Amino acid sequence: MTAPKRIAILGSTGSIGRAALEVIAASPGAFEVVALSAFSNSTLLAEQTARFGAQRVAVGDEAGNARFPPGVVVQRGARALEELAGDPDLDLVLNAVVGSSGLKPALAAVRAGSRVAVANKESLVMAGELLMPMASATGSELIPVDSEHSAIFRCLKGTRREEVEGVTLTASGGPLRDMSPEASAAASLEDVLDHPTWDMGRKVTVDSASMFNKGLEVVEAHWLFDLPYDRIRVVVHPESIVHSLVRLTDGSLLAHLGEPDMKVPIQHALFYPDPAPVAFRRCDLGAIGRLSFKPLDETRYPCYGLMVEAGRLGGTASTIAATADEVAVEAFTEERIRFGQIASVIEEALDGVSVAPADDMDHILAAEDEARACALRVVAQLAN
Ligand code: NDP
Ligand code: MG
Repeated sequence: MTAPKRIAILGSTGSIGRAALEVIAASPGAFEVVALSAFSNSTLLAEQTARFGAQRVAVGDEAGNARFPPGVVVQRGARALEELAGDPDLDLVLNAVVGSSGLKPALAAVRAGSRVAVANKESLVMAGELLMPMASATGSELIPVDSEHSAIFRCLKGTRREEVEGVTLTASGGPLRDMSPEASAAASLEDVLDHPTWDMGRKVTVDSASMFNKGLEVVEAHWLFDLPYDRIRVVVHPESIVHSLVRLTDGSLLAHLGEPDMKVPIQHALFYPDPAPVAFRRCDLGAIGRLSFKPLDETRYPCYGLMVEAGRLGGTASTIAATADEVAVEAFTEERIRFGQIASVIEEALDGVSVAPADDMDHILAAEDEARACALRVVAQLAN
């Protein structure tokens, strides 16, 4: 029998983190949970630590004082999370932290040469230019967790590079897909959080409604699969059964299908390169009956276009767009700005902050700071 894989789960209290622990619980003996992290939910983190026997945890500075099992090392702050991610004795790091706070831990794990299961797409979007060459240099493998990228990763395994014309990401269209553009600009928080097919954390759910998420995913695909932007397409597929496709040079397609359940791509990434053993939900096409597709109407989703444009522009433009979106989504979830104003915040940040090369962490962090300050100013004006 092979030794259990030593894993750290960054963001174990979130939607992906909790699903990952379910995956681990379903395969006893396959993993040793070495470290876990949360930002504020120290109560759940303490429960997870006791149940899975983690030895080390990181929490945010402001987290409460939950009681951890005796002997567990508890550290606080962003630096502690980075240190935990950079432990060279890990076999695998699952980066399931939300937003730009996933960037430094991603860098630490890649620098340590660990295999990284990438749920935190923002780290690749902001620093793909830095992370991908670093991964090649240290031997760190990046295994996608995002369902679309996991699907493509799996389809690519059966192809030769020369026969790949490009990839097509599927998009559910999100909870507002049947609303008029006017109604969706004024959509309530409740409408936006009511995703039709996927059950996810708040930020990614809002980003799915605006399709900013699909823009992030296009940039994520650009870095993960080393593809130019004109070879990455998006198609709307409301049932979320076809998770994404690879287009071949002979005009045919390879697809990966399954029920919309994040445990499938998570399990694939955690077990990789070994086969994932558990069928959480089987995909029964006879019961599903019908799959439909339609082209993406970009005019309905300005946030999508802004993110892809920033990706194409290169350098720190994608950091500026991603950071402005993070600020805008927070303001929207606090009901300080309207849903339709998220795009204005991103657009103004892209106009107001100058773009630098993204081959240096200092440039990326400076762009993040400037974009955050600019977006906060725009939000304050809009909220007035
Ligand atoms: P959640 O909001 O559910 O969870 C986020 C996790 O990160 C929690 O553990 C949270 O801790 C922690 N966290 C929050 N803020 C910080 C911070 N500033 N510093 C350190 N840790 C922090 O997010 P999701 O699980 O939905 O998403 C995680 C990532 O995975 C995102 O990048 C998302 O885009 C991506 N993803 C998610 C999918 C999904 O189905 N949910 C699908 C594909 C990708 P606490 O609980 O204490 O707040
Ligand atoms: Mg996705």
